[in-house]
Amino acid sequence: MIKIENYINGQLVSPLSENYLDNYNPSTGKIYGQIPNSDENDVEKAYQAAENAFPLWSKSSTEYRSKILQRIADLIFENLEEFALAESKDNGKPLSLATAVDIPRASSNFSFFAKAITQFSSESHENSAINTINFTLRQPLGVVGCISPWNLPLYLFTWKIAPALASGNCVVAKPSEVTPYTAYLLSKICIEAGLPKGVLNIVHGLGASCGNAIVSHPNIKAISFTGGTKTGQHIARTAAPMFKKLSLELGGKNPNIIFSDCNYDKMLQVSLKSSFANQGQICLCGSRIFVEASIYDKFKADFVEKVSGMKVGNPLEKNTDLGALVSKEHLEKVDEYVQKAIQEGGQLLYGGKPVQVNDFEEGYYYQPTIIEVDSNQCTLNQEEVFGPVVSLMKFSSEEEVIALANDTKYGLSASVWTSNIDRSMRMSQQLKTGIVWVNTWLNRDLRTPFGGTKSSGVGREGGLEALRFFTEPKNVCIQYSIE
Ligand code: NAD
Repeated sequence: MIKIENYINGQLVSPLSENYLDNYNPSTGKIYGQIPNSDENDVEKAYQAAENAFPLWSKSSTEYRSKILQRIADLIFENLEEFALAESKDNGKPLSLATAVDIPRASSNFSFFAKAITQFSSESHENSAINTINFTLRQPLGVVGCISPWNLPLYLFTWKIAPALASGNCVVAKPSEVTPYTAYLLSKICIEAGLPKGVLNIVHGLGASCGNAIVSHPNIKAISFTGGTKTGQHIARTAAPMFKKLSLELGGKNPNIIFSDCNYDKMLQVSLKSSFANQGQICLCGSRIFVEASIYDKFKADFVEKVSGMKVGNPLEKNTDLGALVSKEHLEKVDEYVQKAIQEGGQLLYGGKPVQVNDFEEGYYYQPTIIEVDSNQCTLNQEEVFGPVVSLMKFSSEEEVIALANDTKYGLSASVWTSNIDRSMRMSQQLKTGIVWVNTWLNRDLRTPFGGTKSSGVGREGGLEALRFFTEPKNVCIQYSIE
């Protein structure tokens, strides 16, 4: 049994209540560890440690902070195998995915912000007619809260923590209670890297108790949250009256729009990934596939054939395409959405059932599932399933597909497949999403603004946007005399 501990004031400690929660391995359905069931008392202890660390950390040089963050990045990379195995065990994702994507990206998050902070600058505005100069100070906020979900555990956790620390804040952070393991390994790495005590505090526990205590803490100045839209609404309601800064990265129902003039082979290959990578549990997955009528039947046949060749199985095996879903509850929720889609008239083209994997009979496996629909108003096209389920629908014109794509409460990302550059520009301008990918998907440059519109969130992360979020701009106006 692995026993995970909180990381508070530079030390690994038990929750004050001594209460622990069970942690499941989704690939076997068995309990393999315990995590602290922390409450507001643990959060208060973490806050105090962060508050005490803030004066020194916030005044330290950017070079010093940069060096420590780079050391953390290097240590994550040096321990890639251990981290990837832990991520796969905790989340159910293929080990190959954790090794190629999740953990390298977690390391890159630290090295990116280690470098970015050394290039961060602010503005000045001179008006020589009245001998005045304004300049903007960018000061750290103080103690900030970072809360992350289970789908890309270390990847998203570090995406928040790294810019917060780089810009001189101290942090109280909570990973998802469903996937706490790599955040625990990160605690150990931070100790090894010599991160001063209290600068980062990681508290494990449930959202309603531990997470809520972070959000409602009167002196935690900002909340960077990634997770479900409902949770985001609750956080906004709690934090807004306290005038906390908020960055909310929420759910998606992203369109994958395929025109007949696209590079067909590339589109087909990437559409498999944008539909089913990480068992479809990526907020950016293209779960609504819209295909131009002239190639609809061909795409449908080819896509079903390719998907039927995908292997669902033990996440540790090299040729596994889809591992386990993250929990039993989530598997049941995904299956309910599939059954509802069929009841509403959707045509099941492939999948639609849990999978029994030999020697892993208790694991939470589900077939990659394709459902043909004829209305964008069906539940499947309006609600986020967050699993290996996509819908197929045909369209006849650019105007029609723009209207369909925008006809959802979400607005995170969209993919467009076309070789017509004018069309790609028209589509990019009219799609109501925070991100548009043309002839690609999940192609991430960490310098770019990342986030959603409508119910997909508020604010942007990434590059300078993140450093701006974690700093308070203060304008200083000096009038000078030239004698
Ligand atoms: P979730 O909202 O249930 O939980 C996310 C985190 O919030 C967890 O750490 C949880 O413990 C915590 N939490 C829950 N209730 C809380 C409360 N009342 N106060 C404070 N914290 C609370 O989401 P999830 O199921 O872990 O993740 C899946 C969701 O995340 C999906 O909707 C997905 O689209 C979204 N997501 C969005 C992005 C993005 O960048 N937009 C990225 C990944 C995942």
